[in-house]
Amino acid sequence: MAEEKLPFQAEVSRLLEIVAHALYSDKEVFLRELISNASDACDRLRYLTVTEPELAKGTQPAKITLITDTKQRTLEIADTGIGMSREELVENLGTIARSGTGRFLDQLTGDAKQDMSLIGQFGVGFYAAFMVSDKVAVVSRKAGHDQAWRWVSDGKGAFTIAEAERDEIGTSVTLHLRDGEHEFVEPERLKQIVQRYSDHIGIPIALKTKDAEETINSAAALWTRSKSEITPEQLTAFYKHVAHANDEPWASVHVRAEGTLEYSALLYVPSQKPFDLFHPDRKHGVKLYVRRVFITDDCKELVPGYLRFLRGVVDSSDLPLNVSREMLQSNPLLTKIRSNLVKRVLGEIEKKSGEESYATFWDNFGPVLKEGLYEDVEHHDTLLKLARFRTTASDAPISLETYVGRMKPGQDAIYTISGEDQQQLLASPQLEGYRAKGVEVLLLTDPIDEFWVPMVQKFGDKQFRSVTRGAADLGKIADTDDKQPAEEKLPDGEIAKLIALFKLTLGDEVKDVRESNRLTDSAVCLVADEGDMDMRLEKLLRQHKQLDKVSARVLELNPRHPVIRCLIGRVAEPGASDSLADAARLLLDQARILEGETLPDPRAFARRLDGVLAKGMGGAAVA
Ligand code: ADP
Ligand code: MG
Repeated sequence: MAEEKLPFQAEVSRLLEIVAHALYSDKEVFLRELISNASDACDRLRYLTVTEPELAKGTQPAKITLITDTKQRTLEIADTGIGMSREELVENLGTIARSGTGRFLDQLTGDAKQDMSLIGQFGVGFYAAFMVSDKVAVVSRKAGHDQAWRWVSDGKGAFTIAEAERDEIGTSVTLHLRDGEHEFVEPERLKQIVQRYSDHIGIPIALKTKDAEETINSAAALWTRSKSEITPEQLTAFYKHVAHANDEPWASVHVRAEGTLEYSALLYVPSQKPFDLFHPDRKHGVKLYVRRVFITDDCKELVPGYLRFLRGVVDSSDLPLNVSREMLQSNPLLTKIRSNLVKRVLGEIEKKSGEESYATFWDNFGPVLKEGLYEDVEHHDTLLKLARFRTTASDAPISLETYVGRMKPGQDAIYTISGEDQQQLLASPQLEGYRAKGVEVLLLTDPIDEFWVPMVQKFGDKQFRSVTRGAADLGKIADTDDKQPAEEKLPDGEIAKLIALFKLTLGDEVKDVRESNRLTDSAVCLVADEGDMDMRLEKLLRQHKQLDKVSARVLELNPRHPVIRCLIGRVAEPGASDSLADAARLLLDQARILEGETLPDPRAFARRLDGVLAKGMGGAAVA
């Protein structure tokens, strides 16, 4: 078949243009990317030949070879990995499959300097080859295939693909180095780069020059080495490799368990939040190996969902090499490993919970970790200790212990209010009475809070209590000293008449009408009745179409508010009942608006408001 010329996907062309003009100081990372791909390819082949032994034909032991040619100024990275078919070459090296790279492109500014620093952050995988080359040729033969293919490109808009010869299964990437990039054929320089970025790889990396061939890495998988042998640089380099990440890990946990359960694990907590943390089809970040052989990167059983931000590897000595997907499900060995790992990881996070960086960790992963409060009863206590909350009194997240330490005399519950938006929450009328007493309230802004709080119920002996549900039990809590003198008391029974009238008018639209002791400034608010679903949860369920009804709520009236006082004064007036009924409806709608709800009948609301305004402005009532 003749050579065929194909265009790059538009995004790739854009990317390559930037990469080619990069004044990037860490150009050497291209080698890390290519070696990482080669090592992935070897891992995948090893696993494939375990499950499909017939594919082993024509394959070689896992190995990566760097071949330099000083005269031609070429550097070849050859591997004995799984190889690529023609379609895979086109797809993998002509489009952007990695969503991370797509996101990288979204963030590009056009400003060379800024864009360069983005390259540093995201990494550009295979395309990094064009940072140092003016031409790249890839020859690949896939396991199980007889035909090899050659992919060639100068990185300018298109690539060619043609039939090729290759005796063995695997891939060779040949870089035609640009003027000025001569250093990447120098053995000493290559050794230095490999040692810096790729020493952790458990596959031998050889350097072959005209005169000699030598292995230039230690070729022992990093997680199998003892802790004292691993330098911080190696630990970070391995993280970047295994997580395909470019940030520094925030924490790492290295386990080498021996005895009845034999496994090792090297797990990392990233310092940056992966963008797909909440995508349903996100990739799993922890790879499973069995005796150094890569098995899968899609084993959901290795770590629980609420630790899905972890990256790294688990290597078991007890599972059989030809373990199947079905065997991995509810496998008792994996269950034990997982349970040990959860303890270790939570322990490590707890150790770091006093550090300054913990707030960032919590911002990144707190909403995920809190899922554990819902799912993992065994670790409630630890997770509650780790949890941090913003409150009405503190913009910096605080622990529950801190909260309890600051509780007011007489306060016996941990007060919470939930809603999506922190600013909106802070303006909630339901908070007024608590604020007046100096009582701190936790702001629950993550959807998951709606689920774990009812499940966990308590921290120590302190019950969580929503300020938007049930009666406010503020009476027991001591007043703050700076409280204004108590208002004169209303004659008993006055408000009762107004409440009766409101109930009559509003009928089924409210569950009850009550005098409020949680309001100080606002006239009215809505709360859920004790035992009913909290309002925020109901809203959330409605958004997700799990629920279609709106529950009737309790309308609370603030007897100290001038509007309510005025209404109380008019209850006995003859002929006032129509305007009082309008007032009841207007105030209910006002309370709904404050809850961020949509009004069931906005036109009626507008009509009533117009009527009141017209009267207030001295005009005639609108008909
Ligand atoms: P990533 O490694 O993050 O997937 P890359 O741009 O580095 O992104 O590589 C793109 C894809 O090309 C890889 O996912 C892999 O499928 C394929 N690939 C690259 N290099 C090799 C190789 N040496 N052997 C087999 N496949 C490769
Ligand atoms: Mg890669």
